Amino acid sequence: MLNRRSRIAITAAGVIPDLDGLGAVVDELGPYFGYATTLYGDYHHVFAHNLFAGVLLALAVALPCRKRLTVFLLSLLAFHVHLLCDILGSKGPDGYQWPIPYLYPLIPELELTWSGQWELSSPINSLVGVVFFVIALVIARYRHVTFFELFSKRFEAIVYKAGLERGFFKT
Ligand SMILES: [Zn+2]
Repeated sequence: MLNRRSRIAITAAGVIPDLDGLGAVVDELGPYFGYATTLYGDYHHVFAHNLFAGVLLALAVALPCRKRLTVFLLSLLAFHVHLLCDILGSKGPDGYQWPIPYLYPLIPELELTWSGQWELSSPINSLVGVVFFVIALVIARYRHVTFFELFSKRFEAIVYKAGLERGFFKT
């Protein structure tokens, strides 16, 4: 089994792409400081939602890990699962599909979308969330690893102790 550092690295590779949406904060603050920007609309799904960013990201998170090749490959997989989920179910309430410029900046005009894409707020996404939550519970029960390890070892130790006392973890 991969160690905690590797698991955190792979998780990071799966969520970091959305940092290119942080322009939304600047856009929101703009009117209070007398400027107007459209960073979110212009750059979300651009800088960090392409193959090259994915490879760089997977390399960066795998570097400090022991099993670098395994972590690199699983990070690349996590990155692509993120892109796949964006393509499947992240349509905006206005119907905008947030296309993925997969080969940006090499071929910026190549954009991936799917005509059957559902909205971000769809119950399908809630169902997917519930399914993965249950999977996380099963992993916690049988492998004794919880997602609390992402935040702190001490915090996870407290959760683990509480779960052990209540007979949640299978030994
Ligand atoms: Zn995304």
